[in-house]
Amino acid sequence: MAEFTMELNDEQKEVRDWLHGFAADVIRPAAAEWDEREETPWPVIQEAAKVGIYSLDFYAQQYFDATGLGIPMAMEELFWGDAGIALSIVGTGLAAVGVLANGTEEQIGTWIPQMYGDADDVKVAAFCSSEPDAGSDVSSMRTRAVYDEAKDEWVLNGTKTWATNGGIANVHVVVAVVDPELGSKGHASFIVPPNTPGLAQGQKFKKHGIRASHTAEVILDNVRVPGSCLLGGKEKLDERLARARERARTGGERVKNAAMATFEASRPAVGAMAVGTARAAYEVALDYAMTREQFGRPIIDNQGVAFQLADMRTQIDAARLLVWRASWMAVNGKPFTAAEGSMSKLFASETAKKVTAQAIQILGGNGYTREYPVERMHRDAAIYTIFEGTSEIQRLVIARTLSGLPIR
Ligand SMILES: Cc1cc2nc3c(=O)[nH]c(=O)nc-3n(C[C@H](O)[C@H](O)[C@H](O)COP(=O)(O)OP(=O)(O)OC[C@H]3O[C@@H](n4cnc5c(N)ncnc54)[C@H](O)[C@@H]3O)c2cc1C
Repeated sequence: MAEFTMELNDEQKEVRDWLHGFAADVIRPAAAEWDEREETPWPVIQEAAKVGIYSLDFYAQQYFDATGLGIPMAMEELFWGDAGIALSIVGTGLAAVGVLANGTEEQIGTWIPQMYGDADDVKVAAFCSSEPDAGSDVSSMRTRAVYDEAKDEWVLNGTKTWATNGGIANVHVVVAVVDPELGSKGHASFIVPPNTPGLAQGQKFKKHGIRASHTAEVILDNVRVPGSCLLGGKEKLDERLARARERARTGGERVKNAAMATFEASRPAVGAMAVGTARAAYEVALDYAMTREQFGRPIIDNQGVAFQLADMRTQIDAARLLVWRASWMAVNGKPFTAAEGSMSKLFASETAKKVTAQAIQILGGNGYTREYPVERMHRDAAIYTIFEGTSEIQRLVIARTLSGLPIR
């Protein structure tokens, strides 16, 4: 187990500086254009693939970094560049984590490379859990997976919504109900391979922020996938379902739900994205406050402005510490006994919303225009308190973990 450290080692510093250079030179200059176009920035993803940032190797290297700081450091730098473009670059990672968390070695080796493609032909992947009637309440999921034993195939039917890269992905990871009696314990994750008949994109959403990231419905109409596409395999699923049924009868040991396993691992990463956006807005605001003059002096000479910047920076640093702690715990297998993953996501996402709003205020009229990036950063920041569990759901998870009570 790696000791918890608050300092990046030399190798990590090198990676951070490299990522920062890409964020500053490639992502940030493209941000306003792709925000306006509201389209997936394929050329930027391709650029990231060429230099090795958009690749399984890079992601896996950061994911398995024993200090736990690899992923948060990478997310912070890329999202510092721009949240919409960065989500287009790292969105595939959520589907990849779904496979890493629940798949067999063979499934990991087969499907993750197809999620990324290569630098000449980049691909993306989608993780599809949310549904129109099952957002925070995953137990209301209706998408059904039925096993056709004669053909050793699973048949998927249902409608997924809010899927990042949904419909444009090469590989979709779909969470579906295999045993409706068991609520969220009766879910399983499936790979839907490229060009599988029956999978289609539904509505593409026009969003408030992160507009360079594609978000859409995914319709599954009698989608047939081979038995080998059930993540973890049939034997493991049958064992898990048997344990869940036993527990439902007797009230025994808790069985982990597949989608929840994915979210637990990814929440600190979302916190790190929020830190990146918050830091970006804070830097613009600090620079502006030091150069903009009113009443014959820089506006930072006023305590009212200077104290806001002091609070912004303090909260960003506090958010980063919570994110790094949770990430270190997750990588080193330490259980989240106080829901530390949720804490990090809750605090960092609320900080990003607050800090980006303060940045607009510090820039005055300019902050409210698209000539300056902080209004975009504020629109982008609003997503962090919504996806991968809203702030209210994070509080619910924290309160339940602390109290041991089924707080509603
Ligand atoms: C841009 C974007 C990208 C996304 N990407 C993906 C993706 O790739 N894959 C995927 O599966 N999903 C994705 N999502 C879905 C996202 O995770 C859901 O939007 C989120 O979980 C909330 O669900 P909901 O929108 O249905 O809101 P609801 O669950 O309907 O919540 C509405 C409001 O009620 C509150 N609320 C609900 N229940 C409670 C409660 N028990 N106590 C207190 N308050 C409560 C919520 O906090 C919220 O404020 C994405 C969403 C967006 C907007």
